[in-house]
Amino acid sequence: MTEQNATPETATTEATEQKIDGRTKRALDTAIVKKQVSQESYRAVLEGRIDLKAAKDLGRNAGPSGPAVRVDKNDRSRDCLCGCGNRTRGGRFAPGHDQRMVTLAKAHVRGEADLTDEQMEYVEASGKVDRARLQVEKEEQKRQEAAAKKAEAQRRKEGRKAEAKRRNAEK
Ligand SMILES: [Zn+2]
Repeated sequence: MTEQNATPETATTEATEQKIDGRTKRALDTAIVKKQVSQESYRAVLEGRIDLKAAKDLGRNAGPSGPAVRVDKNDRSRDCLCGCGNRTRGGRFAPGHDQRMVTLAKAHVRGEADLTDEQMEYVEASGKVDRARLQVEKEEQKRQEAAAKKAEAQRRKEGRKAEAKRRNAEK
């Protein structure tokens, strides 16, 4: 992993044939420590491709060949924690995918899914696993109520049938 603002020593050791004078070199070192110039600009100044003022004008996030921001962001991105396979923009999730963890936690509560250690840690810390438990309980309750209603309706239907049969027999 390379950092945008790594210590300048790594760059200076290999730049033994400096094309700049000592004063500029010290000013350049100060500039990178203060994060006024980017690592790429730093090297460019050392190599005499641009001067210190140009480097400062480019700022800390850009070098002579363009902005370095994009590279930085890619470095921080990772696979989305929900397991969808998308890369994130630097956080744990692709946009909106943290909500998918409730669904995943529900599957876990029902014993239908195995969560990774990191996913487990997340759903516990965020309270999503508690939410998932409540939702699964409610859903189970609803399912049982619906089953009970259906059974009750069936009993009544059979009761009416038996009643009709009895009346027919009486005629
Ligand atoms: Zn995802």
